[in-house]
Amino acid sequence: MLDAVYYADLGLSSIYDKVLTGRRLSYDDGLELFNCPDITAVGALAFHVRCRLHADAAFYVVNRQINYTNICVSTCVFCAFHRSAASDAGAFTLSREEILARLRKADQSPLRLDELHIVGGCHPELPLAWFEDLLRTVLDLNPQLSVKAFTPVEIAHFANIEGVSSLEILKRLKTAGLVMMPGGGAEIFDETLRPQICPHKADAKTWLRISGEAHSLGIKTNCTMLFGHLENFAQRVDHLCRLREQQDKSGGFTCFIPLPFLTENSALKLPDDKLGPQRGLDQLRTVAVSRLMLDNIPHIKAYWIMLGPKLAQTALWYGADDLDGTIIEEHIGHMAGAASSRGLTIQNLEAMIRSSGFRAVRRNAVFDCLGPYNAEAQP
Ligand code: SF4
Repeated sequence: MLDAVYYADLGLSSIYDKVLTGRRLSYDDGLELFNCPDITAVGALAFHVRCRLHADAAFYVVNRQINYTNICVSTCVFCAFHRSAASDAGAFTLSREEILARLRKADQSPLRLDELHIVGGCHPELPLAWFEDLLRTVLDLNPQLSVKAFTPVEIAHFANIEGVSSLEILKRLKTAGLVMMPGGGAEIFDETLRPQICPHKADAKTWLRISGEAHSLGIKTNCTMLFGHLENFAQRVDHLCRLREQQDKSGGFTCFIPLPFLTENSALKLPDDKLGPQRGLDQLRTVAVSRLMLDNIPHIKAYWIMLGPKLAQTALWYGADDLDGTIIEEHIGHMAGAASSRGLTIQNLEAMIRSSGFRAVRRNAVFDCLGPYNAEAQP
């Protein structure tokens, strides 16, 4: 399938050689891949890398998401999830007891959770002690649980509220049981575009700095890119290069998640040429280019909530190796207009993976394999 003459005809000889010999792609290479007319050729290169790293394994996690509040002091233009005040229609803040009740219910079902994923808006009043107490309480309930919680944006917000450094916040949360952080809030780093879509959010340097601080404490993190809105290919490649550079320095990114922008319920409206079925191909291409550019990040996730299960399965052939998990209850993507279900069973996930031609591997939050898998192949 990887025919040198074919890639030469596409003008991709240099990229082809680099990919097959495991050398790093440049910023210009990334742009060429986004502009290549043959998406299947780009996908085949990404599939080659994905198989080199993970063979035929495709990962999933038995997890539950908890979105503790959608009240948020930021007013990101694209966000359909946030509310400004408790009195706004649809606003919610879960009490500690409500969160524990959800966890108890999930954990007592046949699922047996491996990961608890906690994220929310930047609430103007909840103090850090509330979150420390929450972490300790959920771990009292199930000490085996890996708690993945709080994006760098939430950490920056906690630091503002408490008047201490983000490093201090991370140390306190680690002491309370935090082992992993999700990668949300990265959006697009470009300094001309970021103020247009999320003017009050932690800036790119802060997001990257806090990720590096977490890594320095041994807290692994994920990373993301929100794409398919106002950004161009150059801004996507720039974003990927900045993540790669940060990973060279701090090494703690475990998984990259390309997040397609969902326009349906957003105040950010797109021109017609950015909408329509071609978005699916753009999403597959973005998965593939991400796999090829991020040579130092082990995993690429096809987040089925945002892509939809069918495209997520296809993305396993375009460089992705992880589908996320059972999730059970998701709000952020669904309030943005995601048409997927709110949760999947283990059987659903395993069937999705097997019917796509891959070997299902159950993992925990930090990608420890809970099933057979050859970890030696990872970078
Ligand atoms: S994207 Fe996050 S930080 Fe921005 S408004 Fe929504 S909840 Fe708040």
